[in-house]
Amino acid sequence: MPYRVSPLRRWSREHWILAGLGLSLGALVATIVPGLANAVEGTSHDVDARTTLALPLPPLAAVDADAADTGPLWQTVHVRSGQTLGAVFEEMGVPATVMHRVLEIPAAKGPLSRLREGAELAFEFGDDGQLRGLRFDRDEANRIELRIDAEAITQTLIERPLERRIMIASGEITSSLYADGARAGLSNNAINQMANAFSYDIDFSRDLRDGDQFQVVYEELWRDGERVRAGDVVAASFVNRGTEYTALRFERNGKYEFFDHTGRPLKKSFMRMPIEFARLSSRFNPNRRHPILGTVRAHRGVDYAASPGTPIMSAGDGRVSFVGWQNGYGRTVVVDHGRGHTTLYAHMSRFGSYKVGQQVQQGGVIGYVGSTGLASGPHLHYEFRVNGAHRDPLTVTMPKPEPLTGAELARFQAATAPAMAQLRRIGGVRLASR
Ligand SMILES: [Zn+2]
Repeated sequence: MPYRVSPLRRWSREHWILAGLGLSLGALVATIVPGLANAVEGTSHDVDARTTLALPLPPLAAVDADAADTGPLWQTVHVRSGQTLGAVFEEMGVPATVMHRVLEIPAAKGPLSRLREGAELAFEFGDDGQLRGLRFDRDEANRIELRIDAEAITQTLIERPLERRIMIASGEITSSLYADGARAGLSNNAINQMANAFSYDIDFSRDLRDGDQFQVVYEELWRDGERVRAGDVVAASFVNRGTEYTALRFERNGKYEFFDHTGRPLKKSFMRMPIEFARLSSRFNPNRRHPILGTVRAHRGVDYAASPGTPIMSAGDGRVSFVGWQNGYGRTVVVDHGRGHTTLYAHMSRFGSYKVGQQVQQGGVIGYVGSTGLASGPHLHYEFRVNGAHRDPLTVTMPKPEPLTGAELARFQAATAPAMAQLRRIGGVRLASR
């Protein structure tokens, strides 16, 4: 059915960040709630390092016909696929010796040696045909201009601060999350972030219904009156089959997470299934006949059949307490999640990069599916223990994540109040108060 959401890779932000921005500015502006379109939260230089989907800056040098006669002429080139810096310089008729002088400038070496397809370089030539100036973008918010003469090269840093604008989009589900999200003016990136935030409460592949409603407060990055790209989701609400869910972004320990309006993390303590692209092949069963030994032996976990090499994730945050070989289990990892909860992962073909004693986050890849030990085929054998007792991972009541308290809760409420007000203003949040 059309309500399918592609697999949500909540352990890897890069995946959805790279999902792409396929939306025109016109479509966005058209769907912004009037009166809020120009709301500006503030200007910031510290562009989020997580959002790496850099779109090109505005042209480095507009080719101005009038300037050609009177002033210096900047020529802008775009790096083509597979084109090296040397090839670009050669194409512009700049000798390799000049290029090597340029690359000796520390501020130039890094950006110029990481040029990507589509990157812009602007060259300025003197009347004698010698390279006099070079401009390039060091990063999204900084441009460098080099002045080149026979003796020396001088550099100027031109700051191009990005301005964050707070935007709001709202819509109703009539066909699919992606189609309706796009119709409301949301980028794929924003839709993924919203879906990701609510994925612990809403199964978008099964639970979505026509008439469901969503509201999203998100950032856009602008410069010089031009939209550079979409930013991150700040807050969202989703009414799914009459139940409203709210997600508020808040930075804790240097990391952004989504919380509900009371300050409880949306992310659950445990993922129900620590593997993707796998099929439940054997359930928890205290009286199972062992498939290889033929004897009655309790199956104290669940099995997920999957292709060899499929990543196995830690079901929750915790500390790796065992990495090694166990009889029958083959290559095995145990994670201690605190509060008496441990999880075990067996039959791995190989381990991830975690060592005993290391902290692992929920979704961290701790190993890969294999059939080491007594296994009839490649699968993950997964156990969940509470205070040492085996529990059925499919039905055990997962502990709720700890809500924010005290000063942190107060900080959360202050930090998210503007976004809450915006959600309320467009009717997104019906919660009377918190
Ligand atoms: Zn098993």
